[in-house]
Amino acid sequence: MRKRLIVSAASALSLFLAVPASAADFQPGAAGIGDPYYPTYGNGGYRVSHYDIRLKYQPATDELEGTTTILATATQDLSRFNLDFALNVSEVRVNGRPAAFATSGEQELEITPARPLAKGSQATVVVRYKGVPSTVKKYGFTAWHRTPDGAVAADEPEAAWWWFPSNDHPSNKATYDVSVLVPDGNQVISNGVLTGTSSKAGWTRYSWRENKPQATYLATLAVGKFDITTDTTASGLPVYNAYSKDLGENADAARASVERTGELVDWLSGYFGDYPFSSVGGYVPNVPTGYALETQTRVFYSPKQFAKGTNTSVVVHELAHQWYGDSVSVSRWSDIWLNEGFASYAQFLWSEHENEGTAQELADYIYASHPADDPFWNVKPGDPGADNQFSSAVYDRGAVAIQALRNTVGDEKFFRILKGWPERKYGNATIAEFQAYAEKVSGQKLGDLFKTWLFTPGKPAVGPVAPGAATAALAPGARDEVGALVEPKSWKKIQEAHSVHGR
Ligand SMILES: [Zn+2]
Repeated sequence: MRKRLIVSAASALSLFLAVPASAADFQPGAAGIGDPYYPTYGNGGYRVSHYDIRLKYQPATDELEGTTTILATATQDLSRFNLDFALNVSEVRVNGRPAAFATSGEQELEITPARPLAKGSQATVVVRYKGVPSTVKKYGFTAWHRTPDGAVAADEPEAAWWWFPSNDHPSNKATYDVSVLVPDGNQVISNGVLTGTSSKAGWTRYSWRENKPQATYLATLAVGKFDITTDTTASGLPVYNAYSKDLGENADAARASVERTGELVDWLSGYFGDYPFSSVGGYVPNVPTGYALETQTRVFYSPKQFAKGTNTSVVVHELAHQWYGDSVSVSRWSDIWLNEGFASYAQFLWSEHENEGTAQELADYIYASHPADDPFWNVKPGDPGADNQFSSAVYDRGAVAIQALRNTVGDEKFFRILKGWPERKYGNATIAEFQAYAEKVSGQKLGDLFKTWLFTPGKPAVGPVAPGAATAALAPGARDEVGALVEPKSWKKIQEAHSVHGR
């Protein structure tokens, strides 16, 4: 006892001299970034600015080996921090030194650096790993989709865990380099621009770069055998599209839809302003899923989207997300209306352009076709809850809310809002910030409108009409000669685009 006292007095002195006085304040970062819908998603204590993802993938066996290098900055004095990840990790280094690591929960990788990280300091984190992603289930599912000739990572809100460790939340956007080695004869599709390919000893490396901030769920990867088309839009933007070679009878309809990407992105620029990224395109892998996803610059489409023929409406929806969702991203997942309401409204505008039903007719149709006791009206698009994040109400009632906004502020101000909002490029935003912006542009108080359409369960007493208009003033053409509701021609295609995330 006595001896120990002497030793500790001496070590306490040296400790005092060697370590900053604040050492006691170094704490573990939180296991979640603070999103009430998904408490463990993302992490606290740091921000990532860049991911360098270097992989080797064998399509025959689904074996993936990787090294991801993360550039991060500590936002607090950190003794330990988490990444979100699902594959087996063999080594972690922080600023060059081996770091201790452990797993916890479903997807937490806890990293204890050899030296704690002071607030504001930069950290380079290297994670080595390997696994067979299709066999790794988290919360009962895998977001890694096998195809006959390879695999695809594209899902929302979680997809990254199966191929790179990350701070998995849209509020921490970063730039990406993705470089993947595959057996010769396979291709790799990812976000942004293909910066190079090289072949050696039977393997080919594909290197992709997304040079604008990107949310983790918008990072995508596909390996397989694709037919590739490249072009530039009328405005000079590079287009890169890819189609699995085995799409069968959906192949032509897929091409006849996705090959219009350049035309449609230019058309959308007329409403939303300059396209925010340096490349655009889509890919259609032979996955058994049914949904499409707005993966940044390179939209993911399931072949089922084209099983009934061409669908330019879904292409418009996913391209609209490049402004509403990808460039300006949700702050929390509860802000999902900022993504889905507007991407759905873009489909209304396309329908109007194609003479397949006006935005007003579509809004009237949705309003009138759901009776007041339909559970559809129970979902609040402005805060749907995690279970209803991708409910049809977020899309449909969400788009009707935008028509109500249009009728309230008038076309001139409405289209100024629609084009002005995406000017906050590459950031994050909340619905409250959108409301404040719409109020600023329109000079009107919009609290009641937002409350009624986005934040109150139940069918609004008055449809999407201008204030003071008669309740039952449906658009001309909304009812036929015997008074029955007329389904707008575009409706089925609009709905198909909303068949999301069927697990
Ligand atoms: Zn969408």
